[in-house]
Amino acid sequence: MEERDVRFVRLWFTDVLGFLKSVAIAPAELEGALSEGIGFDGSAIQGFARVYESDMVAKPDPETFQMLPWRGTTGGTARMFCDIALPDGSPSFSDPRHVLRRAMKRAADMGFTFYVHPEIEFYLFRQPLVPGVEPTPVDTSGYFDHTTMTAGTDFRRSAITMLEQMGISVEFSHHEGGPGQQEIDLRYADALTMADNIMTFRVVVKEVAVMQDLFASFMPKPLAQHPGSGMHSHVSLFEGDTNAFYDAAGEFNLSKTGRHFVAGLLHHAAEISAVLNPWVNSYKRLAGGGEAPNYICWGQNNRSAMVRIPMFKPTKASSARVELRSLDSSVNPYLAFALILNAGLSGIEKELPLPDPAEDDVWSLTDRQRAALGIEPLPYSLDAAVRAMENSTLAAETLGEHVFDFVLRNKRAEYAEYLRQVTPLELSRLLPSL
Ligand code: GLU
Ligand code: MG
Ligand code: MG
Repeated sequence: MEERDVRFVRLWFTDVLGFLKSVAIAPAELEGALSEGIGFDGSAIQGFARVYESDMVAKPDPETFQMLPWRGTTGGTARMFCDIALPDGSPSFSDPRHVLRRAMKRAADMGFTFYVHPEIEFYLFRQPLVPGVEPTPVDTSGYFDHTTMTAGTDFRRSAITMLEQMGISVEFSHHEGGPGQQEIDLRYADALTMADNIMTFRVVVKEVAVMQDLFASFMPKPLAQHPGSGMHSHVSLFEGDTNAFYDAAGEFNLSKTGRHFVAGLLHHAAEISAVLNPWVNSYKRLAGGGEAPNYICWGQNNRSAMVRIPMFKPTKASSARVELRSLDSSVNPYLAFALILNAGLSGIEKELPLPDPAEDDVWSLTDRQRAALGIEPLPYSLDAAVRAMENSTLAAETLGEHVFDFVLRNKRAEYAEYLRQVTPLELSRLLPSL
């Protein structure tokens, strides 16, 4: 830190709803923070603690030390992610990072490491952003449009440069389908590193947007008439150096382990939806077409399916993976990856059979045709998702009792508040005629 002239160290952690929390300490305090942690009031953090047991300690993880590029190089600012502990030193039951560590430990006990590579979509809007008013996208381009020196191109270049400076490799970036909508795909990493990277990604994207007098949003469906922002995630399990999803002899080159993993994802899809699609607004993305899935099925290169098996080149067995397309860009990545992993592992443990792939465009089938194929819908609302989660042993065990109860309570309250609204649609349709 002396070499780099660090003036502040920001300690970062994530609340249960997926919002980044940050406390800045002077460099002189870091040694103490590393050995004892920094105390804070857990009851003031969403989902962390009840008031009568509120003392918590943030312990920085030295592996995650990075400089914040937008803070300059002299008198700069560094950041570290923290693990949260209780005063007695045991890991906090409510720390999302701990929830994911626990799931990854289970995978490790079964011999697996879990890798993720997300395709992160978001919108760029013009300032000023007025709460309650539909925002204005920065451009009118569409999917893969090559635009010379528009706001989006410039923006992606700056954001990617900064991400790389922070040790986050970017694989692809392009304009997405909606006006002002962008996509940036991160190079795969183990799920814990990736969840940290996604939290960093959101900060970088928002910072760069502000620098360019824009506003970036990861809201699942900000514009009613345009596609929402998904966070399709390509996932794989490795056993040592071997990709456990690859088998040259398997259908679609997918191994038995890969097939059971996908079967687990399908089997548990509804009950983990309240975390993978965590807001009332998330279900508007799923209902709105635009390549967001709303049926529980899988297929090869089938972009209407919830799970897609990308074509793997036999020369690149290590890139064998499956793409889960339901989750959106607003998720708490720690909790989402923990649930995805445990859903897949449960498929492997129970050797769940994989149903037939969906060959057709599942949106164009009738309900009766889908039923005949055994294709169920994903929950169509936050309310339906919460109801599916209430009875889920998998979700309760993965999240732990405290986080599980908090998510259910919080999401029930969100839905109840939503139900009490009278919307502009109702006023314009009903008021004149009733
Ligand atoms: N925006 C779409 C979604 O919300 C995905 C578009 C695509 O990349 O296929 O899932
Ligand atoms: Mg995309
Ligand atoms: Mg995709």
